[in-house]
Amino acid sequence: MKIGQYAFDEFVDKVREFHGSAAPGVIAGGVMVDIAREHLPQGKLYDVVCESAKCLPDAVQLLTPCTLGNGWLKVCETSRYALAFFDKYTGEGVRVFLDASALGPWPALRAWFLKEKAKAEQDQAEIVEEIKKAGRSIYGIEHVRVKRDFLASRTRRHRPVSLCPSCGEAYMADLGQRCPACMGTGPYETG
Ligand SMILES: [Zn+2]
Repeated sequence: MKIGQYAFDEFVDKVREFHGSAAPGVIAGGVMVDIAREHLPQGKLYDVVCESAKCLPDAVQLLTPCTLGNGWLKVCETSRYALAFFDKYTGEGVRVFLDASALGPWPALRAWFLKEKAKAEQDQAEIVEEIKKAGRSIYGIEHVRVKRDFLASRTRRHRPVSLCPSCGEAYMADLGQRCPACMGTGPYETG
């Protein structure tokens, strides 16, 4: 079984290097990337949306030119373990998800995916081995059309910039009269 250009075990090493551990979520995500790409017409430009910020974006960034930084990868948090590759102009695409109903034969994988056991009680090597053995049998595929908001014509639209009257820093004017940080939704404690 290959994942992208890598042999399975080689991909596990790549994940360890990039992600900090051989996270089952990134490895399963790699299989999902392959499945999605195989179901798309060759030679088209595609964008990707991940439905979870955990693990999946790293699989996409390891295996495709799509990154959060270049905007070809986006996260729309539904918390479902799924990603979709889609034509960036039409929105037509393929969604791949990890199918809980297919996990019966894979107890370690099931316990990990459904968080049936505390992380300390789980054996990561066993989970990864089950991902390898399960191959493509544990994923579902469906055709989707993503919303206009995710298409290239929308994401490249002009957004005016303002200087925040409170902090003086530049921010996207459509977010409000002041920047989000000065409205209280930034990441830092104040005072
Ligand atoms: Zn501000």
